[in-house]
Amino acid sequence: MTNSTPLHGKCLCEKVQISLVASEASFDVCHCGMCRRWGGGPALTLEATTQVSIKGEEWISRYDSSDWAERAFCKSCGTHLFFRLKRTGYQNFSLGLFDEATGFKMKRQIYIDAKPDQYAFANLTENLTEAQVLAAAQSST
Ligand SMILES: [Zn+2]
Ligand SMILES: [Zn+2]
Repeated sequence: MTNSTPLHGKCLCEKVQISLVASEASFDVCHCGMCRRWGGGPALTLEATTQVSIKGEEWISRYDSSDWAERAFCKSCGTHLFFRLKRTGYQNFSLGLFDEATGFKMKRQIYIDAKPDQYAFANLTENLTEAQVLAAAQSST
């Protein structure tokens, strides 16, 4: 699959439908405590280009998880949809929404130092600590 092929995603109840073009054929894992509390486990997320279209916006609830970010989910079925930085508009989307993302590679694990001992992925990935993630965010602004 090429990167320009749109992916089609949906929540469990199918009221929210998301089409997007992924930035690359890969996804990241976040082990931070907030993601694990939100989703019951680490978050698997993919990044989109600016080509995103969402149907069923009226079914989307946005939770302010911090001063700088919000997390969106379907009001009807509770499916987690995306994480968004308020200031920049940066968004990433739950990998599990998109059946067509087969073959996508696990690229990075972030907040690796927040990962509990209960599980570990065998995939070979780039691993970033919280400090490294924050330093990268600083340098990109
Ligand atoms: Zn739903
Ligand atoms: Zn996280």
